[in-house]
Amino acid sequence: MAIPAFATLSVAPIPSLSDEVNQIRLDTAKIVSEHIIPNEATLGVPGDERDTLVHELRTYVKESNLWAPHLPVEYGGMGIGFLGHAYMNEILAWSPYSNYIFGVQAPTSGNQSVLIKYGTEEQKKKFLEPTIRGEQTSCFSMTEPDNAGSDPRSLTTTAVQDGDEWVINGRKWFTSNGQNAAWALVMCRTEESDGDGGVNEKMTQIIVPTDTPGFTIERAVPVWGHEGGSHCEITYKNVRVPLSNQVGSRGTGHAAAQDRLGAGRVYHCMNCVGQMWRAFDLMVKRAAERKVHGGMLEDKQLTQVAIADSYMDIQSSRLMTIHCAEVIDSGADARTEISAIKVFVPNAMHRVVDRAIQIHGAMGVSGDTPLAGMYLGARTLRIADGPDEVHRILIAKNVMKRYHDGMTWDFGVL
Ligand SMILES: Cc1cc2nc3c(=O)[nH]c(=O)nc-3n(C[C@H](O)[C@H](O)[C@H](O)COP(=O)(O)OP(=O)(O)OC[C@H]3O[C@@H](n4cnc5c(N)ncnc54)[C@H](O)[C@@H]3O)c2cc1C
Repeated sequence: MAIPAFATLSVAPIPSLSDEVNQIRLDTAKIVSEHIIPNEATLGVPGDERDTLVHELRTYVKESNLWAPHLPVEYGGMGIGFLGHAYMNEILAWSPYSNYIFGVQAPTSGNQSVLIKYGTEEQKKKFLEPTIRGEQTSCFSMTEPDNAGSDPRSLTTTAVQDGDEWVINGRKWFTSNGQNAAWALVMCRTEESDGDGGVNEKMTQIIVPTDTPGFTIERAVPVWGHEGGSHCEITYKNVRVPLSNQVGSRGTGHAAAQDRLGAGRVYHCMNCVGQMWRAFDLMVKRAAERKVHGGMLEDKQLTQVAIADSYMDIQSSRLMTIHCAEVIDSGADARTEISAIKVFVPNAMHRVVDRAIQIHGAMGVSGDTPLAGMYLGARTLRIADGPDEVHRILIAKNVMKRYHDGMTWDFGVL
């Protein structure tokens, strides 16, 4: 039987989910597979045609009540909660263009969640609302070239109070979306390292409009050989903003970053699951269609190993991520589960996409499939949002602590 030329999503209702979330997954799959995937060639080329298409698709998404799944209803979002969004994300991830079209694009989506939790009414009106309406985007400026991003306590960009203003000085890099952003959420050292308060209470996040004097984009750092990206190196030289741009109380910068990254890691991992799902689909179809050495690829046992190992990688990643989302949703401490998926899932994606590329031969590294982009994304994710090593150390520490406290690890607990 002939296999369809482009991948169509097979999504059926999941019995354990509510009717509402199942319907959302089905509606999302329809838009992604019928309107986004077939238009990826247009969506990948900046210009008028792309802008018009994005506008049309965004309008359709809004009319379908699928806009901003990460936000509560009172902020113009879907209000489907953490788990609902996680389940929707694996469908969105089938195309790298979906998140933008559905109004849930990092880093702005993470900044929005921080402002909803920590922001003042004035900040919400001035900075949050324009991003929800899709009029502005933002960036998150934490990592620095001269200090270890994996140890955010080492950051040295300072904010010093001068009258009713904060004065910010420092250098950041890998501030994604820096060039397009209307404002940056900047992680600043506001307390002396030997001053009052705990080691995690020395930083504060401050909003800096990107047209503030002293905010200078030095360059977009080339990533994987691509010059045109927007991961920016930025200097902050005597940047003055009103004290009212401080997000949350002084010293809460780490806590806000953890809030953002914890949930963000689940979304990233469901995003990885969705991408692996599509890579798997492409791999299986290629194996069924390609003839090599007098037989079909699917009949070669080494291909069968690749398919079977990929199936296991995807299913284990998916179940681990859903379990982690359930632990977070239950309100329990999910730090171990979050670190575990942050290590396991991008590595699994790396393996799955690698196999899919191999099975496609030269086509796998070409621009004719999304596999090359997925591969680079998976490799990058083993560093971004905290490198593998740091999360492995955290898992081991949490496990050892429990045993030292006289308990054993309970894998069944929610
Ligand atoms: C594409 C991309 C986009 C990004 N976007 C943003 C953004 O928008 N905003 C932002 O603020 N940051 C962003 N980052 C930065 C990212 O979060 C950091 O790169 C990450 O936290 C690691 O910090 P670092 O690069 O300074 O590595 P370092 O902290 O210098 O670590 C280097 C390496 O040391 C090893 N290592 C670290 N700790 C240990 C340990 N305890 N034991 C053993 N080995 C260890 C790991 O292998 C690690 O990869 C982005 C990064 C990338 C690649």
